[in-house]
Amino acid sequence: MPDILLEHMDLITMEADVGVIEDGYMAIKDGHIEAIGKSSELRSGDYVGYERIKSPKCGKRFIALPGFVQTHVHTSQALGRGLADDVDLITWTRKRIWPYEAALTEDDVYISALLSTAEMLKSGTTTFCEASGVKPDAIAKAVLDSGMRGIVCLSTMDLPGEIPPESRMNTQEAIERNLAVVETWQGKHERIGACFNILNLFLSSDRLWRSLTELAVDKKVFLQTHLAESLDEVAFIQEKSGKSPVQFLESLGALGPHLLAAHVVHVDDDDLALLKERDVKVLHCPGAGLRIAGIARIPEMLAMGILVSLGTNSPPCNNRMSMLDEMWLAGIMHKAVENNPQAVPATSVLEMATINGAKTLGMDQTVGTLAVGKKADIAILDFNKLYTTPTHELFSTLVYQANNAVVDTVIVDGEILVEGGKLTSINEDWLIAEAERRARDIVKRANIKF
Ligand SMILES: [Zn+2]
Repeated sequence: MPDILLEHMDLITMEADVGVIEDGYMAIKDGHIEAIGKSSELRSGDYVGYERIKSPKCGKRFIALPGFVQTHVHTSQALGRGLADDVDLITWTRKRIWPYEAALTEDDVYISALLSTAEMLKSGTTTFCEASGVKPDAIAKAVLDSGMRGIVCLSTMDLPGEIPPESRMNTQEAIERNLAVVETWQGKHERIGACFNILNLFLSSDRLWRSLTELAVDKKVFLQTHLAESLDEVAFIQEKSGKSPVQFLESLGALGPHLLAAHVVHVDDDDLALLKERDVKVLHCPGAGLRIAGIARIPEMLAMGILVSLGTNSPPCNNRMSMLDEMWLAGIMHKAVENNPQAVPATSVLEMATINGAKTLGMDQTVGTLAVGKKADIAILDFNKLYTTPTHELFSTLVYQANNAVVDTVIVDGEILVEGGKLTSINEDWLIAEAERRARDIVKRANIKF
């Protein structure tokens, strides 16, 4: 692992009392941030032997900021993207994505997750949390090989439904398999964690909710789910319990700081108050929301102090795994809904993509901001591009103008994983060929008809 010195860059620290350091430097040693300051403070002879990354001599300075933290992405579904576009939800699930997932081999999931990590890294993401994966060991292997930081989990349903036999498990199996994932991966490797998972409220028993909630609290591990995602879910839970999905989970004792809830679109004022009171974390997925779920009440959640972070959700219902794309959507979609151009400003979007993500995953002591002692998880951006010109203001250029092509360098745990816009840990040409070949094979094997 090289010691690294970043020189003459604008540092977006995301530390409230530091803000942006113009023309700054940052030293990285043993995978941690060793020092941060103004470049003018550097003396010749400082940091001898460090690998130096500098802004170009002509043009605008590079921008260094904490790597993005994606809190909800289905990495085992990446080979299925484009497989279920412009179809209704029943076709999406039952005829396309469930058969696709059921046909995946361990190696398919590895390639799917590696494709996901490659795309995330190239858009500046350094940490992700799997949303509900199949074959979590294969996802963990992709995390290890890519050099990213990741949290894995197992997609879990314990009630019978129209799901493929391969995805079915009874309640006891569901508990044991979740425990096995956590025991295998949580705290066993520097860059990997694990969480419990319950896919949704349709296909999960009350006993499973109670058991995994108890285990999550006991083991201090998060429990992730999709909550209040569709009107069908609201109607189903209303019929079953006479309550809203949020109030139903409250009745099971399942709301709490351990709960990571994706989407949270169809909620009323009482639901929001409960989420705030119980410190439930909301995983906002703008692209998937616009395509399938609907638009969450993010401005109100932020105003109430609910912790909101960002995810790209499922590749077959967003098609992109770029946090920069997601940030752009998060920045513009709520303005239309609220009829208010000040709703969810660029600063809030950047907080959601960095420090809020780190807090959501309980990692804010180690990542999410640029501060001495924290892990060196850093994205370096080059705004010397047509679409980021002019740059009047860093945050708004980043949220409203930037795309993946601005990402020059990405460092995770002190290792350079993207250099000059190219992956260093993954052979991109090989990965594209392998992913394409496997995706076609899966469609044939699963007999998926377009
Ligand atoms: Zn999801």
